[in-house]
Amino acid sequence: LSKENQSILSAYEWLTKLYHHLLRYTKDGREGYNYFKNRGLDDETIEVFQLGFAPNAKDFTRDFLDKKGFHQQLLVKAGLLSQQDDNSVTDRFKGRVIFPIRNHLGKTIGFGGRAIIDQDPKYLNSSESELFQKGKILYNFDLAKKHIRKKSEVILFEGYMDVIAAYQADVKNVIATLGTSLTENQAKLLKRYVDTVVLCYDADNAGVEATYKASMILRKVGCHVKVANLRDDMDPDTFIKEHGAEAFNNEVIKASNTFMSFYMRYLKKDYNLSLEGDRINYIENILKQLAMIESPIEREYYLKELSNEYDISLETLTDEISTHREKMG
Ligand code: ATP
Ligand code: MN
Ligand code: MN
Ligand code: MN
Repeated sequence: LSKENQSILSAYEWLTKLYHHLLRYTKDGREGYNYFKNRGLDDETIEVFQLGFAPNAKDFTRDFLDKKGFHQQLLVKAGLLSQQDDNSVTDRFKGRVIFPIRNHLGKTIGFGGRAIIDQDPKYLNSSESELFQKGKILYNFDLAKKHIRKKSEVILFEGYMDVIAAYQADVKNVIATLGTSLTENQAKLLKRYVDTVVLCYDADNAGVEATYKASMILRKVGCHVKVANLRDDMDPDTFIKEHGAEAFNNEVIKASNTFMSFYMRYLKKDYNLSLEGDRINYIENILKQLAMIESPIEREYYLKELSNEYDISLETLTDEISTHREKMG
């Protein structure tokens, strides 16, 4: 690690502690504390995730770190101060609650900051740098790792609050991307620890599209994909808050769909299945994905389903899928 990056890590360490302390114990952080309390987090959870609050003053962070000997330019580079057009600087996260983002060693390498009033953008992350690369990190991976191993399964969410709500509800094999779509790099990292990934994205259109994209990437690196059964336009955080941990476990996670069942439904939106040509293209598209499934039982299960639903003989479908599998080698 370069001297500069060591310095940046140290600045993040100071600030993580400071912002958390302010939130937890001082009047200056009270609005942040109340915000998390209103969202249902208890003190222990606030502690575990070192949640914090950055005071709404443009020089607070700079002044604090200046006294510790950190140069302003370094803090700009670290993504903690924003440089204005007139070259003056301002605290990037001022007035926001803070989610420290830790690397696999548990060291804070960036912040996510959420507005607690109606303010754009809702979430703001540290800027991309050598240390903080959004496409390479997974939120909460350090704490989740041992639970992922134990359960042989990882649950992937969209948001920080989803991870934290699940963790508090004692579902601990949980991680999230940092507001960006899953990258191949992150998928490969996961594959080193676990075979099965349960995608639990928001139950809205964006969430469904993101589920499709993430599942393609995960399948490409050889992960087994399941899709959580979240309903009613909710996100996992609101579901847990409204229905509790047990319902989340039983009705959402344990009731996950197979990738194929998700995909067969998802793909229908691209086709008009009352047209013959569309029906044929749809089936061929499904078969391509089905060919990638290693379990012969699962393959046959969906082949039968297709055969029944579209009145095509099982032999024809089986031949077609064998051709695909031979091509795959
Ligand atoms: P909350 O429950 O606090 O409203 P959320 O996690 O449900 O947040 P979503 O809108 O579902 O928020 O977004 C999911 C994730 O995407 C967030 O946790 C955050 O990491 C990221 N994100 C959301 N909005 C923005 C934004 N405007 N800029 C950058 N990242 C964002
Ligand atoms: Mn969303
Ligand atoms: Mn959400
Ligand atoms: Mn949410």
